[in-house]
Amino acid sequence: MTVQSIKAKARGQWKQVLVYSTGLPQSVFRDVHQPCPLCKDGDDRYRFDNKKGSGTYFCNRCGAGDGFKFFKKFHSLDEDGAIDKLDEILGISSGDPKINLSAVETFKSVPETTVVVPAPVGAPKPNFYHYKHGNPSKVWTYYDMLGNVFFHICRFDLADGKKDVLPLTYCHYQDFRSKAMAYGWRWKGVTKSDGVKRPLYRLNHVMDSIQAGGDEWILVVEGEKTADAADALFSELICVTWSGGTKSIDNTDWSVLNGRNVIVFCDNDEPGHSANIDIYNKLMLLDPTRTVRIVCAPASKPESWDVADVDLKTANVDSLKQYVSQASFSSLQTELD
Ligand SMILES: [Zn+2]
Repeated sequence: MTVQSIKAKARGQWKQVLVYSTGLPQSVFRDVHQPCPLCKDGDDRYRFDNKKGSGTYFCNRCGAGDGFKFFKKFHSLDEDGAIDKLDEILGISSGDPKINLSAVETFKSVPETTVVVPAPVGAPKPNFYHYKHGNPSKVWTYYDMLGNVFFHICRFDLADGKKDVLPLTYCHYQDFRSKAMAYGWRWKGVTKSDGVKRPLYRLNHVMDSIQAGGDEWILVVEGEKTADAADALFSELICVTWSGGTKSIDNTDWSVLNGRNVIVFCDNDEPGHSANIDIYNKLMLLDPTRTVRIVCAPASKPESWDVADVDLKTANVDSLKQYVSQASFSSLQTELD
């Protein structure tokens, strides 16, 4: 008997296996923050997220694992001991399971968390501390057309040098302790199923310009950090971006840019080049009378280069500005061919 065959058999049924074998209440195996049943301490350090039905859990003190590891740790077994016990419970070798998995009471579903956007004016200030990642290294706030907070995007720099970027949105959700429905900030994004488009990042600057009757060109770049950097470089343009990366272009409301000429300047890599085209097509569909130019990074720049990589102290900012203002869609065609 191998760990693989145990995991294959138990997939999708870890909640039932663990409730049966540990005697713990069902509520321990829900995706909500709660005390840890393994290190038996804390208040909200643990949750059971059951990714792909594999029984995964996370504790910010004693670590993460899957259903097999939970079982092993809970019963203080070694690998072989856990395999034997689970084989017995699941009846893989014997063909005679100790439990009737289908008879184990199934879980009542938790009411869905729904986004409330924009956040009400009286909503409390969010706490950006994340249970797993700690404090974000950077927070970008998205506003709607009236200047109300739509959501926050938080960047976390992880210990292994990687990063995680998470949305924080005001939501209606079920409090896991009181079971009452409540309002508050949750780590959740605005998705297609919410039936509402996301605003552009730095939309408030676009709105200011519209109100002032301005006609500045809009510069669309890829990512909030780059939009901030572009704003510092191109003061004569209004620099914006969209949230969620190159696969989320459709989730954003671009119609607010109707009537405006736009320069699209995404990252110097394959997803960035595709995003340039997708945004170009989207903008021209919304308002065919405008001009949209696509800028590609100068040929001398490395893969993934963007204007956030410009060192303001050493770069020839004037030549970059000239490069951006003179680039056109046809020059892109040449580069792609
Ligand atoms: Zn723990």
